[in-house]
Amino acid sequence: MEIHGISKTFSRFPALKNVSLQARDKEFLALLGPSGSGKTTLLRVLAGLEQPDSGEVRFGGEDFLALPVRRRRVGMVFQHYALFRHMTVGQNIAFGLSVRPRAERPSKDEVRARVADLLSLVQLEGLEKRFPAQLSGGQRQRVALARALAIEPRMLLLDEPFGALDAQVRRELRRWLREVHDRAGVTTVFVTHDQEEALDLADRVAILKDGELKQLGTPNEVYENPADPFVFDFLGATVRLPGVVEAGRLQVDGWETAAPAGAPAGKVELFFRPDEVAFSDKGPGLAAEVRALSARGPDVRIECALNGQIVELHAHGPTMPAGLLPGAAVRVTPLRPRVYAA
Ligand code: ATP
Repeated sequence: MEIHGISKTFSRFPALKNVSLQARDKEFLALLGPSGSGKTTLLRVLAGLEQPDSGEVRFGGEDFLALPVRRRRVGMVFQHYALFRHMTVGQNIAFGLSVRPRAERPSKDEVRARVADLLSLVQLEGLEKRFPAQLSGGQRQRVALARALAIEPRMLLLDEPFGALDAQVRRELRRWLREVHDRAGVTTVFVTHDQEEALDLADRVAILKDGELKQLGTPNEVYENPADPFVFDFLGATVRLPGVVEAGRLQVDGWETAAPAGAPAGKVELFFRPDEVAFSDKGPGLAAEVRALSARGPDVRIECALNGQIVELHAHGPTMPAGLLPGAAVRVTPLRPRVYAA
């Protein structure tokens, strides 16, 4: 799928600004961004629920936006499962088949076989005769997914499908969704504002902000090499400090080290992750004072005063230096510093 220059403005408010990105065949693509970044609007454009002001989508060699919605064969699942309350699980799943264009409508026996296959795919065997009210939230979302898959979609569009579920169920469904995707083999676009969910699930992640695409890459690429401070900050906990790069050297608050490759010269901001640091009692590093410690098993959280801020850093208990106690002066060395122009 190739999305070229899609823009969409709602009464002068630009929700999408010239967004271009490509998804490979059968790829699992996550659209990640904060609230209002345009994720749902892009999904609705793909579904045919929204007409863009400009731009093009090509899919399977076709001009996808020119296809009538029924011909696009997209399966959709939303955050608030829109199951038919008066229909059983089986009837809900079969529904999409009954509204196919006549020539593509399967026979009753085919529908029965297909519903059975889908129930087994989404691991809801035996629940076919239940009504939605008799299911848990997670089970309802599985039914919604089975219903979306029933039409053998060419593209599966998921808008925060687990957004209304609790964290534990979300994590389970995430793993499960990935398996279902791999078995069904369908190009999938998954909207989420949860970076962990996107990084966990997707083959590639498209990060949006204010209607613009900020970066597109594998979870590893975007996490290891965030294109800008926004992406860095959005993908995980962040410590940021002002600094200067001069003659290939980075200087931050009395600490000097080789500037990372590609660092801009002049005033910069140093970014690092709170768990990517080494502690020592002296030697080079950022001067810090330990304020408080708390442990969750081997993961120790260390609150430090650093460059006039209070920051929470993480250490691995068994490898932590012995003198790391409240009140101690320590040196903190960011192991993977990233530098952006200030
Ligand atoms: P969320 O995570 O909150 O769902 P999102 O990234 O999906 O956010 P969109 O729903 O695509 O964001 O909305 C992008 C922007 O466009 C928002 O500021 C929203 O208020 C605006 N918008 C979306 N749909 C409409 C509409 N029909 N009319 C007016 N403005 C709209």
